[in-house]
Formats: sequence, structure tokens, C-alpha cells
Amino acid sequence: MNIVLMGLPGAGKGTQAEKIVDQFQIPHISTGDMFRSAIKEGTKMGLEAKSYMDQGLLVPDEVVIGIVNERLGKDDCNKGFLLDGFPRTVAQAEALDLLLEKLNKDIDAVVYIEVDQNSLMQRLTGRRICRDCGATYHVIYNPPKVEGTCDKCGGELYQRDDDKEETVATRLEVNLKQVEPLLSYYQKKEVLQSIDGNQDINKVFESVEKILRGLA
Ligand code: ADP
Ligand code: ADP
Ligand code: ZN
Repeated sequence: MNIVLMGLPGAGKGTQAEKIVDQFQIPHISTGDMFRSAIKEGTKMGLEAKSYMDQGLLVPDEVVIGIVNERLGKDDCNKGFLLDGFPRTVAQAEALDLLLEKLNKDIDAVVYIEVDQNSLMQRLTGRRICRDCGATYHVIYNPPKVEGTCDKCGGELYQRDDDKEETVATRLEVNLKQVEPLLSYYQKKEVLQSIDGNQDINKVFESVEKILRGLA
């Protein structure tokens, strides 16, 4: 099962990805997570990505395409994969098609989580992430049992620098510009499935699950 999860920042991609991975045992490939790991490790690529991420801008296509190419070539992707946060531009989508063609694979579905603009700001500014396992929480909509502590691993929760209000506005604007052409791209290929992301987390997952079970 080869899946792409699409949605504006804050739509719930990471949250749904955690659930999909639990149910379907496919690797979760999040370009944002990969950049954050590279930053933590202090690699050259991480440093370059950070200069864009801090401003709420997109990392250049060639950098993103490079890391995805490397990741999708690994053996664990033979049983399927879940791309989260990639592609975000038509150029990335085209590069992905080329790569999949070489690997003799196809995208089975692009699931677009659609959320009202005004909810996105609240979701992003209230988001908290576990430093150790990367699990996602929200101070109001999905709080941990103990404030500041991850339910899954006991790790410390933190707020991403780019989830501060100043950067969030730029991120939404930048991503909005890219999303329409990308949706048309996948609509033309007849793989696009949109779901209503304005419902609570478990309801959204029911919609996701229905689509994925239909593919299996
Ligand atoms: P993305 O990966 O698309 O940027 P996340 O999954 O990190 O989005 O979700 C953004 C924030 O919104 C997180 O704090 C998350 O807990 C919260 N969230 C996710 N899905 C929902 C939902 N259906 N309703 C309310 N809050 C949600
Ligand atoms: P969100 O979905 O909430 O925007 P991510 O964790 O997916 O957050 O991404 C964080 C940042 O990493 C983005 O703001 C961007 O700078 C960079 N990034 C992640 N994926 C891509 C991509 N496919 N193309 C360009 N930049 C990306
Ligand atoms: Zn954790």
C-alpha cells in the first residue's frame, strides 16, 4: 500500500500517520521529521533546511527530493509506505513519479485532509511534540494525561519554533500557494481522495481507514 497524506500545516497529517502506521505497519516517511532529525544531528543538510524552516519557508525542491529518493529506495518500503508532507510542490510530485517509475511502484491513493483555514492557526499554535518519540499532542484538542509529558514514552513535550504565531502565518500562506496545483495534479491522475478533517481525531481516522481498507 503506497499512500501520500496531504493537507495544509496543522491539518492532522502527523496525527493520522501515527494511527495508520499502528494499523497498517507501513513505514511513515515525514520530510519534516527527517529535517528535524538532521538538525538534531547537526548535518550540513540539516543546517541548510533549518534556515528555511525557521522562516516558515519551503526547503528547496532538490534538497527534499534528494532525501526522499534515498529513503524510498530502502528495503522496508517494499511492503508499502506512507508519505507525510511530501510532495508539497508540483515539481516534487513530478520527481516522485519519476522515482516510483524507476522503482516499479505506483501511488495507490493521495488522501487530502481538508480543514477550515481558521482552525489551522489554533491547531498549530497549540501543538506540542514529544522530544523523544515525536508523538503529537494539542493543549486543548488532544492533551496528554500529564501536562508536558508524553503518554507513550514519558518524554518531555515541547513547542516547535515554527509553531509560534509569527511563523505560522507565513507557513500557511506559503503552503496555500502550492496546494491547489498539487491537488489538480493528483485529481488528473485519479488518485485523489479528500476527507473532512474538521471532525475529531478518531472520526477523521474512520474516514482514512475506510479509504485504506478499500485499497487492500
Ligand atoms: P500536520 O502534521 O498536518 O501539520 P498534526 O497532526 O501535527 O498536523 O496536527 C496539528 C495539531 O492539531 C496537533 O496539535 C494535533 O494534536 C491537532 N489535531 C490533529 N488532528 C486534529 C483534529 N481532528 N481535531 C483537533 N485537533 C487536531
Ligand atoms: P507541517 O506539515 O506542520 O508544515 P512539517 O513537519 O511537515 O510541518 O514541516 C516542517 C517544515 O519542514 C516546513 O515548514 C518546511 O520548511 C519543511 N518541509 C517539510 N516537508 C517539505 C517539503 N515536502 N517541501 C519543502 N519543505 C518541506
Ligand atoms: Zn514520546
